[in-house]
Amino acid sequence: MSSEYVFPPPAVVSIPVAGQKARFPVHRIYCVGRNYEEHAKEMGFTGREPPFFFMKPADALVVVDDGATGEIGYPSLTKNLHHEIELVAAIGTGGKGILAADAHKHIFGYAVGLDMTRRDLQNDMKKQGRPWEIGKAYEQSAPIGPIVPVAAAGDVENAEISVQVNGTDRQRSTVAKLIWNIAETIEHLSAAWELQPGDLIYTGTPEGVAAVVAGDTLVGEVKGLPVLTVKVV
Ligand code: MN
Repeated sequence: MSSEYVFPPPAVVSIPVAGQKARFPVHRIYCVGRNYEEHAKEMGFTGREPPFFFMKPADALVVVDDGATGEIGYPSLTKNLHHEIELVAAIGTGGKGILAADAHKHIFGYAVGLDMTRRDLQNDMKKQGRPWEIGKAYEQSAPIGPIVPVAAAGDVENAEISVQVNGTDRQRSTVAKLIWNIAETIEHLSAAWELQPGDLIYTGTPEGVAAVVAGDTLVGEVKGLPVLTVKVV
């Protein structure tokens, strides 16, 4: 028996890559807050403000293969679990102080993600000026589909983005409506943190966030990327 660790270390969290056998090993998950104007308004804000970020742990991911239905358990403590459909950018080359003009060189590919949120707990923390982790960074809070390499992903920055719950539209917009586009987001992020290969950026959600309950099935889509299907159990 190995004596290198006092208990077995957790496995590396990784995501399948479309068209490749090798998987994408995950380092960190960065998330952008209020990055679509109509969503900022529905959350009680007016629109463009400097981008701001929060994180989720890598092991909050629920990795769903192409064509599969993932499952997330309805989380503890909340009575108001919200979906946020998001385009996710996957970083392949790290760096700090990256300029927007150079940012695309750092992107490996794109995926569809859900930033699941215990909204009641997040709102309580906001009111008290406390950190959001209890609302945002809990287990299974970050479902994600396969990563599509940039060359195969098409024009995701102008793609339609949507989520349906039980077959009914909840959110439908276009990634073109991002307040801070992906290049600008990478510039801001990499001014504050040194980006690493394996980092994921959940780029924000459009308007229409709402509650789901156990038994609901979510179908998230960014045109050009594999559909993300998740059931709440
Ligand atoms: Mn979000």
